[in-house]
Amino acid sequence: MQLIDGKAVSQAVKERVRDEIAQKGLKIGLAVVIVGNDQASRVYVNNKKKACEFCGITSYEYALPEETTEEQLLELVDTLNGDGKVNGILVQLPLPKHIDEKKIIEHISPMKDVDAFHAVNVGRIMIGDYAFLPCTPAGVMELIHSTGTEVSGKECVVIGRSNIVGKPMAMLLLHENGTVTVCHSRTKDLAEVCRRADILVSAVGRAGFVTADMVKDGAVVIDVGMNRNAEGKLCGDVDFDSVAPKCSFITPVPGGVGPMTIAMLMENTLRAKKLQS
Ligand code: NAP
Repeated sequence: MQLIDGKAVSQAVKERVRDEIAQKGLKIGLAVVIVGNDQASRVYVNNKKKACEFCGITSYEYALPEETTEEQLLELVDTLNGDGKVNGILVQLPLPKHIDEKKIIEHISPMKDVDAFHAVNVGRIMIGDYAFLPCTPAGVMELIHSTGTEVSGKECVVIGRSNIVGKPMAMLLLHENGTVTVCHSRTKDLAEVCRRADILVSAVGRAGFVTADMVKDGAVVIDVGMNRNAEGKLCGDVDFDSVAPKCSFITPVPGGVGPMTIAMLMENTLRAKKLQS
């Protein structure tokens, strides 16, 4: 079994982005909008700022109070859409309940939608004509590539069908000619389906969900889950100790998929600049 080092792979992606920006002398800006005081969101936003600094991207932070109205947020998005210094716009989710997330996302210019959540970008992912790759699934693909595993012709099983992870994940694997099965809470004989997988990606959100009996010998296992176990420790969906010995490659949590999401955001911001030039 080999551990996939998400920190090292994400560092390589950030260095690639940093070097291209420096070599071409590009001036790139990313606007990060956060509404309210969600602590986890604060941590993510700070990590995004640090990654921007590393890559040579200027980050513009808009920290708005919890009582910000939907109209005010739409106005800010309008302003950022028209601001030539801003190449990418990221509205940190979740938003407070009185704001319609879908409405805000659909208001971001698709050319600046570095999270790839806008329906136009989701549609492009479906047809394989990407402007932006969705950050977490794109990060998973980088991790799979880092192992030297060829996706083409492989049985790929994705557990989870969310719009942010599961569905686009399935699309990216399909575009690389994997034979893809998407599982969800109504899937029958989940363990049996998972045991078929040469590449198993779990995005459920439950600690200890993927157990050794669900994993084929020699599989590549990618754990997208970010959960807290009974002791409050960060962990993934995979019961790591029992599953790891069966795998050819496996991601740890933390230090697997997590760092990749931010690295891919940096790559998308660079792509946005190129699209707009
Ligand atoms: P989500 O929207 O809650 O989706 C979870 C999916 O798991 C759903 O499709 C659900 O099926 C499925 N599921 C739930 N119980 C199941 C069961 N018993 N059997 C089979 N499938 C089941 O979550 P998400 O946003 O995709 O996130 C998933 C996990 O990834 C979370 O832990 C999240 O924190 C993590 N995450 C990590 C990153 C990162 O950067 N590392 C980024 C995003 C998300 P139904 O559709 O049938 O309900």
